[in-house]
Amino acid sequence: MSTELIAHLQQELAQTREAGLFKSERVIATPQGAVVRTADGRELINLCANNYLGLSSHPRVVAAAHEALRTHGYGMSSVRFICGTQDLHKQLEARIAQFLGTEDAILYAAAFDANGGLFEPLLGEQDAIISDELNHASIIDGIRLCKAKRWRYKHNDMADLERCLREASESGARFKLVFTDGVFSMDGTVAQLDRIRALCDQHGALLGVDECHASGFMGATGRGTHEHRGLLMGGKSRVDIITGTLGKALGGASGGFTAGPREVVELLRQRSRPYLFSNTLMPAIAGASLAVLDLISESTALRDKLEVNTRWFRQAITEAGFEIKPGDHPIVPIMVYDAVKAQQLSARLLELGVYAVGFFFPVVPKGQARIRTQLSAAHEPEQLQRAVAAFRQAGLELGLVK
Ligand SMILES: *Cc1c(COP(=O)(O)O)cnc(C)c1O
Repeated sequence: MSTELIAHLQQELAQTREAGLFKSERVIATPQGAVVRTADGRELINLCANNYLGLSSHPRVVAAAHEALRTHGYGMSSVRFICGTQDLHKQLEARIAQFLGTEDAILYAAAFDANGGLFEPLLGEQDAIISDELNHASIIDGIRLCKAKRWRYKHNDMADLERCLREASESGARFKLVFTDGVFSMDGTVAQLDRIRALCDQHGALLGVDECHASGFMGATGRGTHEHRGLLMGGKSRVDIITGTLGKALGGASGGFTAGPREVVELLRQRSRPYLFSNTLMPAIAGASLAVLDLISESTALRDKLEVNTRWFRQAITEAGFEIKPGDHPIVPIMVYDAVKAQQLSARLLELGVYAVGFFFPVVPKGQARIRTQLSAAHEPEQLQRAVAAFRQAGLELGLVK
């Protein structure tokens, strides 16, 4: 390989390190859970997984994966349209559609692929995509691959969304699609889907939502942000297109989906490149995901416990003297503002047995550094009490709280 390129890469890496932006990975030697042990033997209360419902290592989910492995094998060695579609995959697509209140659903290897392969097959030059400026990277990339004209509105700003809708209409766009994260992962902000739906209706636009941080627990029965915002009526979704992941609350392995009208899903099966040109989801994930949907459809106990844990933690960490981003989502950003302080706090928490990661520029705006904590139904009250005590101690030591 070219020595010039290697030298160039070494320089890039050194600059990333100097800027304090180098991401190192901590190695865990246990299954994902409320408590994890790192490879160097430390037991940590885990406040930074997307394991919202505690299903990542749930016995029923693991058993269903074993069973699917036994009955359907390890891998499909094929894409879906050649010889990669099993009954399990068809069942899972039907169950996801039923759970979300759409006509149909299509599976992908990841939500990144669902978003990456969504826009280009559906919309062309005559159309318009209007998106929130803070949408997830996979949505941004997916939109880049599509020839539709683009508008971006200021984050969560309904007046600016309306401006974009008006401009798109005046430009003579054939179809207009508004697309947003249901929940934004840096702040835990929940999109105002009811207001966005009303604006879309006024301007004749379709609405699409990425539900990665919502499916399984937002709303009274965990269907997602559409349920939370009153857009699930008689079990039918008033959001036109929903993308989501199996890699967060819904079991935490991997896999993604797009749910929506039958014709949308049908066309994606014909034309969506990550679907056509990438291997079928592992059968064990399909089998386990069916068990996840059974589990959370039988009872709301897990999402209810998550809600209780979230409410308790938000109040306790505030009483411990910290400032958090207000809201009711299990993403609880603890604001430190200063990037160095945020790193020091995260490092001290680790010593005190709490795993919580600092986020700073460029992941969040400059001067907005924070520790992002995430609650889980797997957390027990005693673990959360210990975590808050550790925050209090580290915060006092670092002069962050009084
Ligand atoms: C995590 C996430 C994704 C990617 O999900 P994967 O299934 O891991 O690819 C996409 N969109 C949003 C909003 C996410 O939070």
